[in-house]
Parts: sequence; structure tokens; C-alpha cells
Amino acid sequence: MTVILSVLVPTPAHSGVGGPLSYLSEEALPKGTLVRVPLGHRELLGIVWDGETEAHAQAKTGLILRPISGVLHPLLALNPAWKSLIRFTARYYQRSEGEVALAALPPYLRELRPEQLTRRLKRKALAVHGKTAAADLAPSPGIAKHLPPALPKGLALTTEQEAVLQEIDLQKGPFLLFGSTGSGKTEVYMQAVQRLLQAQPTAQALVMVPEINLTPQLEQRFRERFEPWLGAGCVVAMHSAMTPAQRLNSWLAAHNGQARMVLGTRMAVLASMPHLRLIVVDEEHDPSYKQQEGARYSARDLAVYRGQLEGAKVLMGSATPSLESWHHSRAASQEKPAGRYVRLHMPSRMGLSALPLVRRVDMNRQPRRTVFAGVLLDAMRERIGLGQQILVLLNRRGYAPVLHCPSCHWKSQCPHCSAFQVFHKLDRTLRCHHCSHTSAVPRACPECGDTDVRAMGRGTEQLEELLATQLEGVRRPDGAAPRIARIDADSTRTKGALENQLAQVHAGEVDVLVGTQMIAKGHDFRRVSLVAALDTDGALFSSDFRAPERLFSLLMQAAGRAGRDAQWSEQFGHACEMWVQTHYPQHPLFEALKRHDYPSFAEKQLQEREQAGMPPFSFQALLRAEARTQDVAQSFLKAVSLAAAELPGADRLSLYPPVPLGIQRVAQVERAQVLVESASRTALQQFLTAWQPLLRSARTQHRAVLRWAIDVDPLVI
Ligand SMILES: [Zn+2]
Ligand SMILES: [Zn+2]
Repeated sequence: MTVILSVLVPTPAHSGVGGPLSYLSEEALPKGTLVRVPLGHRELLGIVWDGETEAHAQAKTGLILRPISGVLHPLLALNPAWKSLIRFTARYYQRSEGEVALAALPPYLRELRPEQLTRRLKRKALAVHGKTAAADLAPSPGIAKHLPPALPKGLALTTEQEAVLQEIDLQKGPFLLFGSTGSGKTEVYMQAVQRLLQAQPTAQALVMVPEINLTPQLEQRFRERFEPWLGAGCVVAMHSAMTPAQRLNSWLAAHNGQARMVLGTRMAVLASMPHLRLIVVDEEHDPSYKQQEGARYSARDLAVYRGQLEGAKVLMGSATPSLESWHHSRAASQEKPAGRYVRLHMPSRMGLSALPLVRRVDMNRQPRRTVFAGVLLDAMRERIGLGQQILVLLNRRGYAPVLHCPSCHWKSQCPHCSAFQVFHKLDRTLRCHHCSHTSAVPRACPECGDTDVRAMGRGTEQLEELLATQLEGVRRPDGAAPRIARIDADSTRTKGALENQLAQVHAGEVDVLVGTQMIAKGHDFRRVSLVAALDTDGALFSSDFRAPERLFSLLMQAAGRAGRDAQWSEQFGHACEMWVQTHYPQHPLFEALKRHDYPSFAEKQLQEREQAGMPPFSFQALLRAEARTQDVAQSFLKAVSLAAAELPGADRLSLYPPVPLGIQRVAQVERAQVLVESASRTALQQFLTAWQPLLRSARTQHRAVLRWAIDVDPLVI
């Protein structure tokens, strides 16, 4: 019997074909089955989807339907909850279901023909079970049959940790775990996962981290804890640094239930996990949870939605929660309804010394062009002499952000972008950090021939060089000269470079570590007793309303690196210190930082945002357009804004005039945007959905427009 199937394929977001296509099949297949289908001259991976009515309508129009070309039989169908998650993601972030669904599958799976997949699964099964018959290859629900009696031994819990775990047991959540750096959040995650896997023999847990490369120890810790108990393969990783084959294996293990725990980056939130019962979002404030291309989803927000959808508990953790999550976890008051999240608090640092003393250096009192204040240098010299380690944080890589000629004012402008090429002294290049355009450093000014071309401003490379001279003559306790290292996107470009550098720091081979925000995240540098942050003032007065939030969180994280070995720092009778060089030492942000007082910083920021009607008190979306000229991009935006006035929801939102992006030209493409803002999320969603077809048809009229895209809940405006 021939049936008509609706099949979701990765149709381009702007084609207007967002829904499934119809194909013929010799057998009825359950929804969620993976199939191969012809489309044009290609053959693609597709998913049997809902929507018979559309299929039948298509059949009735007399179109000749093509048959599917194959079924990926050994795989379980994707379950209804996963399909609902995809549907929601597509709708909320204004993309097509096909695009979101297929992008959520491992890329390698999209290329495999059914017989290749069968062979692969057979090989894997043989590798795991020795001589499993082919009949057993069908995915099992992943019941661990050989549970060894001994449960993993976690660390002894503090009273705070125990109390938090009890709350998680008792309540439904979602939970926001507000815990100081070093308060033992990771142990709470591990024990929450363990309790779940122990209580429910098929349950799965998803643990998300912002950037897996920055926390290589974490995967190891989870494996060491769980593998002796549940067997090899119970923990799988999922992130973009894996090979296509590794990613496919992890995905298959999660999909068929063999993997009880997935540890991954934002992409893992869309993994198929049929028995998902717990989602942990570590460092929930981290901007890398927001996807910046295609469907621009927030993996943290989707985690909360997915938890609701699948009945999984959601546990988000941070020492500096996002203001959105903090707001959602505010206690009920007379004016405000109770928050949606349950806030759990762990203020104490485990076995660590107190949080570092924050010292502000008033740069107005320093000689002009001072890079390191004298008092800071003295403190650094002293610490090195005691064998202690120092972190120097500067969020700008390269040697200098721009080269310039004092005679004719030439600057190292990128020829393709409205940005400067950054001077990298080590390999004598000028590099654009937006389009990657690279050229050799000119020997003389390209405009006037003056050979006195100078670097303006400074980046991490320059600090490294400068420190080498400024710390000359200083000796470590063993009499050796201090060793200075640098960690940023440049120094860690090659595979394994970051791990090597971190290992050197951990081994105490490095005395001063200079770096970008990469050094502030997650690492456990036990002997760091001084952290210095340079050039942070830009964020205090940025036009980006989220800049102070990000700065505060970065500085708190950096401060948290210091004093992680209490015994050791007590031995020297030295308080750990965080130094901030600023022209605004009295700024409230630094006052709050000095007290390590995230709650008061957050309350103040939330008050300001409420008064200004900004998120989380309003909801935003951006419409971005790209074209060869700014004129074309803006006239497209003007036209669609004008036409939008009559759309549903339009009366409940503000549509701002088109403006160029902060960096308006990248790689010869001009970029402009329109901000849409509403006090009602529903109104905004309603409006955006109605706007889509209008945007598509306007795009065909404005042929010169290259691309447009909608960004819902954008992080950068
Ligand atoms: Zn010149
Ligand atoms: Zn460029």
C-alpha cells in the first residue's frame, strides 16, 4: 500500500517553504522516522513530520509526488517531545522547522545512506558487546544491566550544598543556584545527576557548559565519577570541536538511551534524549549560550522551556546570574508577582580563603600614558618574590588596536570593514578581527612614506612585552627570573595549545599570566594571589546597556580566580587582591565589586532597566539587513517598517528607525538594523510571525538586499 508522508527537509529559511513536503512511501512510517528523500537533483536527510492535510492538498493539486529513497531503519523515531521542542524553537526564533530540525542533527548523519548507518551501528555494537547478534542492534532503552553495587563516592557535602540538593529534590524548579566562585556548584551538579540516575534506571541528564575547551577538566571529572559505576560510554560529550564521527557517536548514544549523561555546549540543548529528566546549565549568564547565526536561540532559555515540556528539572548556576534569571528569581512582594525560578543560595567558599580584597587605582592621579601604576607594579614584584602567581586581564588581543602615522594621520583601516586592522607584532601582521583580512605591517606609512608609524593603544601582546621589561631584576624564591605567559585567542589557535598552557600555569611554571576573558573562566589556578584588570572603563559608559552587567560578571569571575588555596595563602599571611585600574574609582559598579555584592549591583541595574523599559521589563527583537550599500539596506528596512503598521500586535510595540550597526561594514557588506520592542512577549511574537511573509515578499522587490534575519531576544544591540 502506498501512503503519502509529510517529510521535513532543510529548506532555506527565506524560501517560504517552511513546512514539510509530501513524498510517497511503500510503508506507513511513524512520525519522527529519519528518511532519505530526493529534492531537485539532490538526496537529503528528512524527518517524517506531522501535517497530513497539507500533504493531501498537495496530492489533490495533481502534483506528481516522488517516493522516498530510503529509511534509516535501525534508528528509533525522534519522539514527540523533541518534535515539539523543534516546533517551538522555530516559531519563537522565527526560522523554518526544517532548518532548525535538520541543523539539530549531527552533520555526519545527514550524509549517511541507510546501509552505511546500519554497518556503522553493527560495528559499534560489536565493539561494545563483543558478539551481539544483529537483531539486538535495535536501540535499547539503555537500562544499565550490570550495575555494580558501589555508588560513586562524591565529595563530602557542606551544609549549604546538602540544603540546596534537598530543595532540588523537594521542589519543581526551575532553579537558579546563586553560588560564589568556589562554593562547590560543580559538586552539586554531580550529586544532583547521581541522585537522579540512581533513582531512575533509564533517566538521562544533560549538563551544559558555555565553552567546553575552557573546561577540559570537567569532562574528565564526570567520567571518573560515573564510568566506574555505570560503565564506559555512560557520559558523552557534545560540542563543535569534536570530529563529525565523534559527534555522530555521541548523538546516537544519547538518542538510543545508552548515554545517561550528555555534557555539551549550547548545541546539546537540541539533542534527542528520550529519557531526559534533568538539565544543568552551568554559568547560565554566559553570552555563548546564545547562538549567533541561523536560528539565534538562547540555549539557556530553551533549556527552561524543554524542562517544562519534558518534565525535566532545570538547574541553572552562576556566581553572577544574568539579570533576566535574577529577575525571574526575585521573591514575591506586594507589587511584584513571585518569580518563576526558585533561587538557591550558596554564599560560602569551600575550603578557600575569603574573597579577595578589591583595590582601585585612580588613573587620574597617574602620569599620562601609564600602563601599570607604580603601586600595582610594586605589589606584583612582591608577590613574585613570594612565589605567588598573578593574572593580568585585558580584554583586547593583539599588540595594538590600530597603527597610525603622526605625519599624515593615516590609520590601519581594514579595506573591507569599517574597523581597524589590529597590529600583531609577533608575526608582523595587521589583522582585521571582523573579516580576518591580513596584511604585512608596512615599513613606512602607505600614504606619505614616513617611517615613524606608531602603535596606538594596547593589547595583550604589548602587555606581555611591557611586563618583561618592568619586572626585570625581580626574582622568584628560587632565584630565577619570573616567567610571563599569555592566553588569548591568538596564543591558543593550534589544537591542544590551550591545554598545554593551562597545564604550565597549574604546574607553577608561569608566574604572570596575561590574557583576555579566557583566563577569567573556570580555571583553578591555585596559587594566584593577585588579579589585575586593565582598561575596563569603556564598559561603564557603553551604549550597549548590557555592558556593565558583562563587566561586573567578568571582574567577579576574575576575582574568583584568586585565593583558591586558603592554606597556602594563609601561610604567607597575605590577603588575595584584585586590582582595578580606572578613571572612575567611585563608580557604583566598583563599589559593589569591592563588597563582592552581586545582589545590590543586580537590584540597581534592574531598577535602571525598569525605569528605561529595557529587558527583562520589555522584549526585543532585531531585524537586520545586509546589502552592498547602506542605502539599500536601510531603504529595505524603512519599507518593511512602514508596511508593518497594520500588522497584528503592531499597536503594542515600538519600531525604531533603521540605523547602521556599530561596525556597519564587514567584508564589504553594509549592515543596518531595526529594533522592535514591546512590553508584551505575546504581542512581539504575534507581530514577528505576521511580519515574516511581508519580509519575504519585500525581499523579492528589493533585489539588491543580500540577506535579512530576525534576532529574537538579542544580546547585543
Ligand atoms: Zn603618513
Ligand atoms: Zn575587515
